[in-house]
Amino acid sequence: MSQDDCIFCKIVAGEIPSRTVFEDDVAMAFLDANPLAPGHTLVVPKEHYETLSEVPEDTAAHVFGVLHRLNTAVQNAVDAPAANVAFNDGPAAGQEVPHVHGHIIPRFEDDGGSPVHAVAGERPDLSDEKLDEIAVEIQNTE
Ligand code: AMP
Ligand code: ZN
Repeated sequence: MSQDDCIFCKIVAGEIPSRTVFEDDVAMAFLDANPLAPGHTLVVPKEHYETLSEVPEDTAAHVFGVLHRLNTAVQNAVDAPAANVAFNDGPAAGQEVPHVHGHIIPRFEDDGGSPVHAVAGERPDLSDEKLDEIAVEIQNTE
């Protein structure tokens, strides 16, 4: 199901142009229009889901397979020795386009960027008891 006002649904439908680098029945990948690095690529499920939690597991596995293959292709294409592969999952995490997409951002030595650790705010000071509690809560919720 596509959503009328979604820019990535419009790309999937061919209604607005993109530099497509991969497409099959389930997923599509295209160059980011405002790249953080040469080769910056976005991988999307063709169906409209806003956040990762909404994506069915088989679709998520397929999208990850595409990310996995393209991560190598992108790095080879732009001769990058590394990449950050990440999802901004939800507005509080910086997601601006509400159609799930994984970023492949090629990285280069001394490119001035940061590791993924830099995306969060101040590190919380969590006791061992609190960490145990959180681990159990995640196990019980999954
Ligand atoms: P996010 O903040 O994770 O939602 O990232 C959205 C990304 O989509 C940004 O990196 C934008 O540069 C990119 N973007 C927005 N519009 C387009 C478009 N029409 N084609 C390709 N990339 C786009
Ligand atoms: Zn969409």
